[in-house]
Amino acid sequence: MVDAQAILLKQYKLCKRCSERHGGDGESPDRCYICRGLMDSLYSILGRIVEAVEGYEFKTFLIGATLPTQIYEREDAIRARLKIRGRESAKSQLTSELGMRLARMNGKKVEYMKPDITIYVTIDKENKVEVAVKSRPLVLSGRYVKKSRGLPQKQDRCPSCKGKGCDSCSYSGLSGYGSVEGLIAKGLAEKTGGQMPKFSWMGGEDQNSLVLGGGRPFYARVFNPKRRKLKRIRIKDGGVQATLSVIDNEPELQPHFRVKTKIHGRCEKGLAGQEMKNLNSLAGTEVTFESRSKMAIKKIHSARARKIDDNQFLLTVVTDGGLMIKQFVGGEEYMKPNISEILGAKCECITFDILDIELQ
Ligand SMILES: [Zn+2]
Ligand SMILES: [Zn+2]
Repeated sequence: MVDAQAILLKQYKLCKRCSERHGGDGESPDRCYICRGLMDSLYSILGRIVEAVEGYEFKTFLIGATLPTQIYEREDAIRARLKIRGRESAKSQLTSELGMRLARMNGKKVEYMKPDITIYVTIDKENKVEVAVKSRPLVLSGRYVKKSRGLPQKQDRCPSCKGKGCDSCSYSGLSGYGSVEGLIAKGLAEKTGGQMPKFSWMGGEDQNSLVLGGGRPFYARVFNPKRRKLKRIRIKDGGVQATLSVIDNEPELQPHFRVKTKIHGRCEKGLAGQEMKNLNSLAGTEVTFESRSKMAIKKIHSARARKIDDNQFLLTVVTDGGLMIKQFVGGEEYMKPNISEILGAKCECITFDILDIELQ
């Protein structure tokens, strides 16, 4: 630092940190011109941070801060007058010192790219401090089995917050727990301490369908989780059993999958044995239909039909994921071939059960 600068700097009453940041070595006993005592309250801010992160499981963290604009203005004014450039700002000194001390205290690491938790320190013009913590969402991959009928797969959004999360839905964003989605969401909130799980399902079933075998695969994202050292999460509630494990990221494209489905159907006319053979010959064919104004093609890999009585039959098929079973039986959506067409009379799907789902 050149002498002229040093002399000028001495005209300002600065605390030790604010002086050093500008190349000085002075320390005024009076209130600091730039930070008004903020830098001297590092330890009390650190105490607030330690309180705020309590209950969060984390290995890495990042501290962000919002300082009152007046601090930047005063700092800028000094720097302009003294022609000082390229020095660390009050904000970055504050966050890096807090980060160093927190890391030293609890053995955690500062991480910029993907911290487990982010600590937000907000300081107002009276140097009042607010500390908030948000953890990185957990991404999970899982499967569920549904062993009782009558439970829908999806849950309506909470009517008061439309899914954003509010007090009345305990931050689930859901209208209740009367579905596969609701029960898994409730279990995830309990096991992770997090909020508003968002799901993506590989295919769907009817309220009256069972989901058996290895279960239906899905992804879930849980926001602001408290616990994250979770190897495997098991949820068992109301006829639903789900097993989930933490993964790095949800794949951008959903994997292809095959579904083994048992269809229980009824036909308007009496059925003959030969007609079951016609259903068996569906194996190896492709079903085409219109989906979102595009033509979709789903392959039938195997088919096995059995007559139960004059009008009813069971058909077990392995198909590409995404074939709509009720329409496939009834022949709606211009689905071709379809069961009604093959049997030569209107048929309806009474129930269908998912026996297994195989990821490709
Ligand atoms: Zn200061
Ligand atoms: Zn709500």
